[in-house]
Amino acid sequence: MSQLNETITRALRERAGDLLAAGTVDAFVGFTTGTVPMVMRPLVARTPEEARQFVWNSFCVLNPANFLPELVQTLSGEGQVRVGVVATGCWSRNMVVQIQENRLRREQIHIVGIASRGMVLPRRVRALFAGREITRVEEKEHELVVSGPGFSETVSRWSVVRDNCRTCSHPNPVLFDEMLTSHSTRNPVADRFDQIEEIERMTPEERYQWFQGEVATCIRCYACRNACPLCYCPTCFVDESRPQWVGKSLDPVDVSLFHILRAYHCAGRCTDCGACEAACPMGIRMRLFTRKLEKDVLALFGTEAGMDPGQPQPLATYGLDDPQDFMLRG
Ligand code: SF4
Ligand code: SF4
Ligand code: SF4
Repeated sequence: MSQLNETITRALRERAGDLLAAGTVDAFVGFTTGTVPMVMRPLVARTPEEARQFVWNSFCVLNPANFLPELVQTLSGEGQVRVGVVATGCWSRNMVVQIQENRLRREQIHIVGIASRGMVLPRRVRALFAGREITRVEEKEHELVVSGPGFSETVSRWSVVRDNCRTCSHPNPVLFDEMLTSHSTRNPVADRFDQIEEIERMTPEERYQWFQGEVATCIRCYACRNACPLCYCPTCFVDESRPQWVGKSLDPVDVSLFHILRAYHCAGRCTDCGACEAACPMGIRMRLFTRKLEKDVLALFGTEAGMDPGQPQPLATYGLDDPQDFMLRG
């Protein structure tokens, strides 16, 4: 384990344990080692002893904001609860969105902030070792040591970091009760929307071809939707049968409709946490769709999702001085 991860892991175990022992929180959400290399699984600790299983490294890619409201609701059966949770920049912004959408109350969570130095996309590591079985990945300060039967090789950590982390403009939590690490001083990427601008420069025909190619291998497993903290509808439009908004098949029209509508449902709410892409078994880059809308929302409304719990969401509010006058027409 890298020195930095070891320090954060030790501090996290200690702090979560103290918060649980003092009764400041009733449960604490973090991560622990999974059963296969490069997979970390969420862990809900209820005691300081359980908190000793927490681990922090570059493979903590699932966004805990996804299940936080359900956890709070479940524990609320025991009375007033407060749940501790680790949060990087994008995760904390998703927690802000949950507060804005009345899924959580601020006082129900205690956020322990960690400045993100970028998470690794395991798929990228596997691609470098195609055809070879990876049995162990050890994270060093700036490298990963990847081992399997008959090999042990070193790869640069940054070369396999997720796309969203490379262009991240908020590595530090925007909402927190305490920080576990010092704030990141990472410089924001100069042109964080360059991938989107490249797609915008395509002709409509080229863009259509690009989009069809991007979603062609989608098997509609909905792992992307299930990993996303914004997709909490009791019945998602793809599961609705009366009316049936979209067919259930792998027909390109049905697949396209799923992706376009899901992206629009995330407009003004997506914090580019990358959990959707990390969960996709087919390597589909659906963030490029939500990112386009993130860029448009920033240009049209001057806001980014999840920056302030008291700020109204751009697509959930309107004013009489909005540029379009449709709300004035009877
Ligand atoms: S996770 Fe990937 S394959 Fe599954 S529905 Fe989403 S885009 Fe399609
Ligand atoms: S895709 Fe849309 S309807 Fe389905 S869960 Fe997400 S936000 Fe809700
Ligand atoms: S759409 Fe993807 S990137 Fe955006 S909040 Fe959901 S999981 Fe995160």
